Amino acid sequence: MTARIIDGNALSAKLRGELAAKAAELTAKGTQPCLAVILVGGDPASAVYVRNKVTGCEKAGIKSLKFEYAQDTAPADVLGKIAELNADPSVHGILVQLPLPKHFDEKAVLEAISVEKDVDGFHAENVGRLSQGQEAFIPCTPNGVMEMLKSIETPLRGAEAVVIGRSNIVGKPMAMLLTAAGATVTVCHSGTRDLNFHTRRADILVAAIGKPKFVTGDMVRPGAVVIDVGINRLPDGKLCGDVDFDSAKDVAGAITPVPGGVGPMTITMLLANTVESASRAARKA
Ligand code: NDP
Repeated sequence: MTARIIDGNALSAKLRGELAAKAAELTAKGTQPCLAVILVGGDPASAVYVRNKVTGCEKAGIKSLKFEYAQDTAPADVLGKIAELNADPSVHGILVQLPLPKHFDEKAVLEAISVEKDVDGFHAENVGRLSQGQEAFIPCTPNGVMEMLKSIETPLRGAEAVVIGRSNIVGKPMAMLLTAAGATVTVCHSGTRDLNFHTRRADILVAAIGKPKFVTGDMVRPGAVVIDVGINRLPDGKLCGDVDFDSAKDVAGAITPVPGGVGPMTITMLLANTVESASRAARKA
């Protein structure tokens, strides 16, 4: 069997077209969606992510503001900028690109962002709301995964879903969303005793580990939907996921590629959250 490829670029293009229409409608009524992005330090991968986010905004008619700080910037300067952006009614989303330099308290910075503008969905209050099924900004990567599952009409209710990884930004919210959708979810991590036992019974397998080609075809249940969140750079400079695509594609029923899978969907969902935040602000105005 050769798996169906879930094309994140194609799905993103469709969704971004819809978002551009919504952004244009809001702009015509006097509220242009606006995302402020803060980048601290010179990490090249972070610079690429920020550039992609800014370009994504521009193409969808969303205004973007970029604030760059040197690696040795005092945290108070960044917190001051966040306070200023929180108070600015023309800004609807605030994103601080992670990771921050070691002398920053990442949690304190994320908590400083107004819950109403937390379009990354990393604020503890948004996470709490999500866990209780209340209206919340959903973290972009797992939200993008849910859109991908929806796009191929993956049955979720009663499905066995296995998530490898339990980070705050991917694994944990991923498990919450799948649980809310009716799947029976198992979360695996570095302490999991028999990983293959779990992965081999998954109807839906999500890999968010950060280890290149970690999940091999023999770990996949025939016909499963395999979602590869990983982004790893190989010594030759090429990108690859946490799944060994070549062996997994012969076993899975559907699979996401890297690049061109979850990555573009993450940015699309960031744009979606920003447009949603702007439309909430317009309703309140
Ligand atoms: P983290 O490093 O925060 O988390 C990795 C998780 O994998 C941890 O929970 C860890 O377990 C688990 N893990 C590590 N080794 C093993 C193992 N041998 N067996 C089972 N589980 C293991 O990473 P992130 O969640 O932030 O990111 C994961 C990947 O996704 C990375 O490649 C990252 O670049 C990518 N990513 C991609 C995005 C996109 O847009 N496509 C967005 C965000 C991330 P433990 O908790 O026990 O340490």
